[in-house]
Amino acid sequence: MKKKIVILPGDGIGKEVTTEGKRVLETIASLFGHQFEYDEATIGHDAIEATGNPLPDETLAKLKNCDAILFGAVGHPKYDNDPSLKVRPEQGLLKMRKELGLYANLRPIKLFDELLQASAIKPEILKGSDILFFRELTGDVYFGEKGRKDDGNTAYDVMIYQRYEVERIAHKAFQAARTRKNKVTSVDKANVLESSRLWRAVVQEIGKLYPDVELEHQFIDSAAMKLIQNPRSFDVVLTGNLFGDILTDEASQIAGSMGMLASASVGDSVGLYEPIHGSAHDITGKGIANPLASILSAALLLDISFGLKEEAETIIKAVEKALALGFRTADIADAETDRAKILNTQAMGSLIVDQLMVSVKENQ
Ligand code: NAD
Repeated sequence: MKKKIVILPGDGIGKEVTTEGKRVLETIASLFGHQFEYDEATIGHDAIEATGNPLPDETLAKLKNCDAILFGAVGHPKYDNDPSLKVRPEQGLLKMRKELGLYANLRPIKLFDELLQASAIKPEILKGSDILFFRELTGDVYFGEKGRKDDGNTAYDVMIYQRYEVERIAHKAFQAARTRKNKVTSVDKANVLESSRLWRAVVQEIGKLYPDVELEHQFIDSAAMKLIQNPRSFDVVLTGNLFGDILTDEASQIAGSMGMLASASVGDSVGLYEPIHGSAHDITGKGIANPLASILSAALLLDISFGLKEEAETIIKAVEKALALGFRTADIADAETDRAKILNTQAMGSLIVDQLMVSVKENQ
């Protein structure tokens, strides 16, 4: 397969982790006989320093002209400490999502058995959890009318959804459920909110087109509780922008560490793949960032954008093997970890590359 991938390292540890994500993509290409062509572009703080623009035109042109994007993170302490700065790294991220029409955020919450102890939730409740979130990205209170009245003493943010916004992400969720356990849980607040009643009605209509997929509805309050009480009862979770924002962060705790979770933002054209973590200024430059979320983002990219399921699964298995052998980065190590098996960013990347080569050889 011949594809063009743009690497968008961004700021802070974004550069360190995407280097390893790219190495894994290169290894997969050589092992499976694919031709991936790479380009690189700037975004965020670095782009502001170089051009004054967090998403330079040159970057946007490259993004619009590729098959998939592997992104790191944006952010810099300078902006975190001074909210008054007008030009900000995260504007690059929001503009990129808008310009590329990325309306669905996919976040797989897959728990690796070896990391069961890292979660705050009891292992017997967690074991076997495997959830795929679909969070809508273009509607809801984030984009509805907002303002203040009564001399600033009353504020409002309108929760708004349009039929087409619900339809297009619902199709994606049902299609994904067909490749998993055939179940979609749609989360809303239809007992109170009109926008949720539209959401629910549209999801039901779309659900009829997928009679082989079980559809259930849950209210956000109850879903938030069940996610912790019985995470194994979920397969695909479909929800709006605000509820999704909250639920996916809650669910990240199921997996135990930020450094392990990948995400995808997709629309009708190019897909963007990134770790859920930020630029982590506290560890930038120390070489200790966990690259596994970026490596798992590379696996998502191969699966979703290129349909290369075997290649994606090979990466996931290599990560599982590395963990099973007892190797960790500092963020996922605990008191029982053999100190000699705590690896830096580059060494963890090299270990995954080695595991990929071993597993492909074993299967020949
Ligand atoms: P963060 O995710 O960067 O870091 C939170 C904590 O987790 C830190 O202690 C960090 O060291 C640790 N951590 C995160 N990723 C890790 C990894 N791969 N390996 C080991 N440890 C890891 O969140 P934050 O500290 O709230 O934000 C830092 C900056 O990142 C801010 O400027 C923020 O705006 C930005 N940010 C960007 C994105 C994005 O680009 N998508 C997302 C969140 C935050």
